[in-house]
Amino acid sequence: MTLRIPFNRPCVVGSEMSYVADAVAGGHTSGNGPFTQRAERFLEAQFGVGRVQLTTSCTSALEMAAQLCDLAPGDEVIMPSYTFVSTANAVALRGARPVFVDIRKDTLNIDETLIEAAVTPRTRAIFVVHYAGQACEMDTIMAIARRHGLLVVEDAAQAIQSGYKGRWLGTIGDLGCYSFHETKNIACGEGGALLINDARFVARAEVLRDKGTNRRQFQSGEVDKYTWVDIGSSYAPSDMLAAFLLGQLEHLERITARRGGIHRRYRELLQPLADAGAIGLPHVAPDCAINHHMFHILTADIEERTALIAYLSRAGIAAVFHYVPLHSSPYFRRIAPVPELPVTDDISRRLLRLPMFFDLTDAEVDDVAGCVNEYYCAGGRRA
Ligand SMILES: *Cc1c(COP(=O)(O)O)cnc(C)c1O
Repeated sequence: MTLRIPFNRPCVVGSEMSYVADAVAGGHTSGNGPFTQRAERFLEAQFGVGRVQLTTSCTSALEMAAQLCDLAPGDEVIMPSYTFVSTANAVALRGARPVFVDIRKDTLNIDETLIEAAVTPRTRAIFVVHYAGQACEMDTIMAIARRHGLLVVEDAAQAIQSGYKGRWLGTIGDLGCYSFHETKNIACGEGGALLINDARFVARAEVLRDKGTNRRQFQSGEVDKYTWVDIGSSYAPSDMLAAFLLGQLEHLERITARRGGIHRRYRELLQPLADAGAIGLPHVAPDCAINHHMFHILTADIEERTALIAYLSRAGIAAVFHYVPLHSSPYFRRIAPVPELPVTDDISRRLLRLPMFFDLTDAEVDDVAGCVNEYYCAGGRRA
């Protein structure tokens, strides 16, 4: 059955298609071409970052970050369990171990008050995730990291154009990672970026992204041949994708603003249900300027969520849940003892994401919110 209102729909907002045509006509369709350069300089200027490198995904940016942190077997990295698998996989691929810390009930981000107790002599880094574009408590986290000599990597996959105390998310830690996956605010199908906030990582990042070679130095005449100088992989996206991405980036503010409109409308329409204690709505921290990446509600329990998903689906509306917490996943159970993370377990059973994308109309938002209201008025899970 095709649903009337999908959960996500990719959008074209500006010059994406003509830029892709230009990339093809220009003859440079592999990585690191003219559109890649333009998109990287755009991101550097927009967010005041020393160096940005486009990658094939946020997953690859996280893998590069784990390599730049020099993670090795036996090392530990502190992170939330309530996140996408790529945050942890980047660490596991280096033979290091994710150490999961519980999340806060309000922001659903890593609980900064629990981080220090998880630090051991093997801890090398903290990987934070800005869930739904809402900022982690970065001041506290950076202070803990500096005290213990740890690196901080921001998984800002959902957080482009979100701020924390006047700074952009992704630019506060030593390294930051964006995603341009189809489901994110700014998208080119599959894509990502590594934000290099500490200049000492720039040269090695270039090598890692270019299959472990010093090709960039060769192209700029710094060396007379290029060769294998380090580990690395193929992390540079095609310039055709960078072209599409640049077309979206040029409308960054407009995209964020429209999502903000959708967010406010959902909130207004669902506030009465929240006031009645039927559902929870997203928390907004005072220090955070949010990019409205998602709109989620919290149901009373998993049975109610399952019933609501079915109810919305019968009305032609796609609503989805996530994440199956990583600490309870089959892979993690094989590599480490399972920690107790009560908030993570609770939220993962009750969180439901409503349709949220640039082209979603006000009428569609009214429709979705109307169906959620109807479900509860009809008596909740018995509906
Ligand atoms: C989407 C997402 C990723 C992965 O991004 P890709 O670009 O699809 O690799 C990683 N972490 C978080 C928190 C995400 O939401």
